[in-house]
Amino acid sequence: MLIETDKLHEECGVAAIYGHPEASKLAYLSLYALQHRGQESAGIASADGEKIELHKAMGLVADIFNVETLARVPGSLAIGHTRYSTTGDSALLNAQPIRVECSKGKIALAHNGNIVNAHEIRSHLEHQGSIFQTTSDTEVIVHLIARSKEETLESAMSDSLRRIEGAFSLVMLTPDRIFAARDPRGFRPLVMGRIKGQSEHHKDAIVFASETCAFDLIGAVYEREVKPGELIIVGPEGVHSRFYSTQQPLSSCIFEHVYFSRPDSFIFGRSVQQSRDAMGRQLALESPVGADIVIPIPDSGVTAAMGFSAESGIPIQFGLIRNHYVGRTFIEPEQRVRDFGVRLKLNPVRHVIEGKRVVLIDDSIVRGTTSRKLVRMMREAGAKQVHMRISCPPTISPCYYGVDTPTREELIASSNTPEQICKYLGADSLGYLSLSSLKQAVNDTENKFCTSCYTGVYPTDLVQLEVRESASNGKTTEVVAVERES
Ligand code: SF4
Repeated sequence: MLIETDKLHEECGVAAIYGHPEASKLAYLSLYALQHRGQESAGIASADGEKIELHKAMGLVADIFNVETLARVPGSLAIGHTRYSTTGDSALLNAQPIRVECSKGKIALAHNGNIVNAHEIRSHLEHQGSIFQTTSDTEVIVHLIARSKEETLESAMSDSLRRIEGAFSLVMLTPDRIFAARDPRGFRPLVMGRIKGQSEHHKDAIVFASETCAFDLIGAVYEREVKPGELIIVGPEGVHSRFYSTQQPLSSCIFEHVYFSRPDSFIFGRSVQQSRDAMGRQLALESPVGADIVIPIPDSGVTAAMGFSAESGIPIQFGLIRNHYVGRTFIEPEQRVRDFGVRLKLNPVRHVIEGKRVVLIDDSIVRGTTSRKLVRMMREAGAKQVHMRISCPPTISPCYYGVDTPTREELIASSNTPEQICKYLGADSLGYLSLSSLKQAVNDTENKFCTSCYTGVYPTDLVQLEVRESASNGKTTEVVAVERES
């Protein structure tokens, strides 16, 4: 059986290293730290001043890279990518980095996000004779660069980035340079850091990653975010930056703080742990409940549960234990075990739960299927009452900016009230964090976060994306009344 998780999935993580003798090893370690952002495939491209080498495969970073495969990607420059597919098929041909040799030279590119006008650009380029090798939206960037009339690679890249719309945090490698860029709305995080040179003869290495947790593992010090609309180039002449786009309203993904990013990361100028703690505290104030224990749904619900417990005074206990060693598939016994898939991953501790009024804290409800099973498991373990508290508002609308979401119809909150959802879950009560409290928890005083999956109002035009999903993935075209932010 396939082990399904009723969670939204992040699409990708990226990393880049410039000027380090063990660049590919540091890229590998960075990907290791970013594994939560994508578990389907991973790859590293490296350069030594002349050639670009590449190794990529399906699977986890730890399974793909070893001493032998890392030796295939030598040099002092490297970029890395870990992928969970949302756009394009789940196959090695869509794994990244993508490496090409074109009119602008040798390049390799790795991208986190989703380009919402990729279908339109692709059709246009195909009419002009471009031949695409993959079904991934990322490849359109490479073709745009190759066909750009600009003479230098830097200008061609700026020109190409101006033509694409949507979410993109990307790193690009040439034989002697690293490029790092973020979309003008700053949907996905991308941070820059530095590893001090070992002596006065050794220059500092410059590094980039989706999250700062990658820096901690490679001994890099966080310097700053790559700014929305910024293109940073690191080469023999040093680090320089340009803005390829005029300023646009920001739309940083608020769900990075709710669920995707690791709590030990610092993204969008704020600690993820601090945000989640504040969400839990606000939730306790907004949806108080008389209960004996707070139980987090591990791992992502833990920090919010600690905040809820601290604010409410209800003690926290680890009443659900996670098995961290479960793969994507499993052989189920012939005699059916109820809630087998969920039990493989999460098992209740009867001793903690029996006779108690329990508050279960989770970061989101997507379809509601897992939450319903967890409530039932709590009751079977002897809970007197089960109250669900969710550290964000109801997810009513799909994401088009690099997060794998089910269709609108599959999202339980798109067509059910919290009361109806509570009844479906079999819980005694259900409380969601309000949008205003969520924004407060991430300190969003300037309206700089995207909240589209909670509001159904999108910052970009989505029509092209829906057509493409239907054409290339065989998914049913989702008819969405697209409301665009003014
Ligand atoms: Fe993030 Fe939701 Fe916006 Fe997607 S729609 S970028 S998940 S806040």
